[in-house]
Amino acid sequence: MKRSLFFLFCVLSFTGFLGAQHPWNLKNGLAMKNDSVINVLLAEVNADSVESYIQSLQDMQTRFMISPNRLAVAQWIREKFISFGMEPEYVQIDSVICTTNINLWNLHYDTTTWQYNVITTIPGIENTNTYYVMGAHYDDVVAPSGNPMEFAPGADDNASGVAALLEAARVIADINYHPKTSIELVAFGAEELMNYGNSGSEGYVAHAIANEKDIHLMLNNDMIANNNGPLWRIDVSNYYGCEWYTNMAQYIALTYTEIEPLLDNPSASATGDCKYFYEADIPCVYFMEHDFNPYYHSVNDLIDHCEVDYCAEAIKISLGVLVAADDPIVGWDEDELNEDISVYPNPSPGSVNIVMDASINGENPVHFVISGYDGKEIKSGTLDCNEKRALDLGHIPDGLYFIRFIGKEKISVTRLVIRR
Ligand SMILES: [Zn+2]
Repeated sequence: MKRSLFFLFCVLSFTGFLGAQHPWNLKNGLAMKNDSVINVLLAEVNADSVESYIQSLQDMQTRFMISPNRLAVAQWIREKFISFGMEPEYVQIDSVICTTNINLWNLHYDTTTWQYNVITTIPGIENTNTYYVMGAHYDDVVAPSGNPMEFAPGADDNASGVAALLEAARVIADINYHPKTSIELVAFGAEELMNYGNSGSEGYVAHAIANEKDIHLMLNNDMIANNNGPLWRIDVSNYYGCEWYTNMAQYIALTYTEIEPLLDNPSASATGDCKYFYEADIPCVYFMEHDFNPYYHSVNDLIDHCEVDYCAEAIKISLGVLVAADDPIVGWDEDELNEDISVYPNPSPGSVNIVMDASINGENPVHFVISGYDGKEIKSGTLDCNEKRALDLGHIPDGLYFIRFIGKEKISVTRLVIRR
C-alpha cells in the first residue's frame, strides 16, 4: 500500500514537473504568460461577428461539395476576407480537381469536379517564405439523401471552423498585426467525402509540396460550436511528433481562455483536413468540441443549436497559438502593464494624451518610448510627473503599440491602440 502510494506520488510529481516546463515557453527566456500581444488580439474576438458568419453560411442553404453554388460559396468567403482589409491579391481562390466515388446510403457519385480552396496570406515581415496555416473546411453533407440541392446548413460542421478563419482575419487586420512568419488562413472545399476520393486539403498539400512550400504548422478547426451544459471543453488532437504545438495549444487554452483543453490519446494518424498535412510531416493540431453535436450531418445542424459564445472562446485558442508560435520580439508579461498610466483616448484616432502619476515610478521626470510590438521605436521623450502631454501620432498606421515609461528602478508599460 505504502509502496503504491509512493509510486503514485512519484508519478504525480514527475508529470507535474513536466507540465510546468513548457519548453517552447522558455525560448529566449521570454515569459509568454499573459503576453500583451496575445491579450490584445484575443480581446478583439467577438461573438456577434462569429454568429453573423455562421448565419450567413447556413443561409446559403447548401454547401454540399457538388452543389452548383460551390464556387459562389468560395467567392463569398473570399469577399469576406477582403472586407476586413485583407489585400485582394493576398486572397486567392485555388482550384483543385477532385474525383469522388461513393456508393453509400442513398449517395451514389462517380464524379470529377473542380473544388475551390480560399487562401488568405498575411505575409511575415521576417520569415516571408515560412508559413503557419490555420484551416477549416466549408463544405457540408447531409446523410443519407445524396441530393445536392437538399438543405445542408452545416452550422457547426463546419461553418464554425470557417468562422474561426474569418474572425482571425478580422482581428489581425483590425489590430494591424504583422507576424514575423507568414500566416495562411485556408477555407478548404470537399472534406466531407474525402474517404471516397480527393479533398481540397489534399490538393492544397500537393500544391505546397510541388512548390516546396515551408509549412511549420497546421491548425484545424472542425466543429467548434456545440456545447452542452455549463462546462466549456474542447478536444485537442495529440499526434506523435506534434507535441510542441499540442502543448502550446493546451497552454494557450488554459492561460487565456475559459475552455478546458482535453488531450486526445496519442495517435500516429491524423484525420479530416489534418490528414495530408500530417502525412507530409507538417505538425498539426486539430480542435473539436468535446460535446459532440447530436445534429451532426443533419438538416438540424443549425445555428440555433450552437453556442456562439463557446465558439468565440474556442477561436481564441488558434489565434493565440498563431501569435505564440510566431515568438514576437516584444513578449513582456502583462503583469508589467500599468493601467494607472492615463493614455486617452485609447483606442485613439491619432492624437493621444499621456499623463503619468508621480507614484508610479517614484522618480521625476521619466523617459518614455513608444514602439510597435516588433520593438521598433516610433517616438520617445521625457515627461514630468502629472504633466499632460499631447502627442501627435497621425503619421503611424492603425495598430497596436506600447508606451514604456523607463525609470532607473522600474519600467512600466501601457498599451495604445491606434484606430481611425
Ligand atoms: Zn467537418
